[in-house]
Amino acid sequence: MNAPLFRLVYISRNEISGDEATVRREIDQILASARVKNPIENITGALMFNAGCFAQVLEGSHDEIQNTFERIQCDPRHSHVVILAFEPASERSFSNWSMAYLGTNSNASAKFGDITNKSGFDPALLEGDHIFDLLKEHLIEAESTSH
Ligand code: FAD
Repeated sequence: MNAPLFRLVYISRNEISGDEATVRREIDQILASARVKNPIENITGALMFNAGCFAQVLEGSHDEIQNTFERIQCDPRHSHVVILAFEPASERSFSNWSMAYLGTNSNASAKFGDITNKSGFDPALLEGDHIFDLLKEHLIEAESTSH
């Protein structure tokens, strides 16, 4: 029997410094790791980045999310990692993606910047559902305009 599905949503502060090309290279490395490792753990999800912060959604079984998240949490390329939600999910929302990415040029990232700025990065003022909806909505938008 398949293990029940869970979803984890977190935010963190970017600790990657340097010019745009350096930052992009590091993000590409993160995505390359995710796209190799996540399928092994049966994890799907999406990552959003603006200059100051990351937000990520991970979908999978409880244990597999925990394994992946423990690795991610220790990564020095971000800090102040705060879990906004870790809860059962009825279905995968990013089933086509080992790790979808919405970068600094996306509308989602601009809105994410607004949210984190307005909240002063106070996790009490940030909601997992809000971040999750933002990623889902804008990924669908990006997919439909890329065809
Ligand atoms: P190794 O590649 O053996 O690295 C050893 C240690 O060095 C790890 O702690 C690693 O975090 C750190 N490290 C690796 N490269 C660098 C670097 N260029 N600069 C500084 N430190 C470095 N991984 C996934 O598998 N799935 C994901 O969905 C995922 N999402 C991520 C999202 C964010 C925001 C970040 C910052 C990282 C993410 N990663 C993800 C990468 C993850 O943190 C690990 O680096 C990666 O999984 C490799 O793990 P490893 O144990 O094989 O470490």
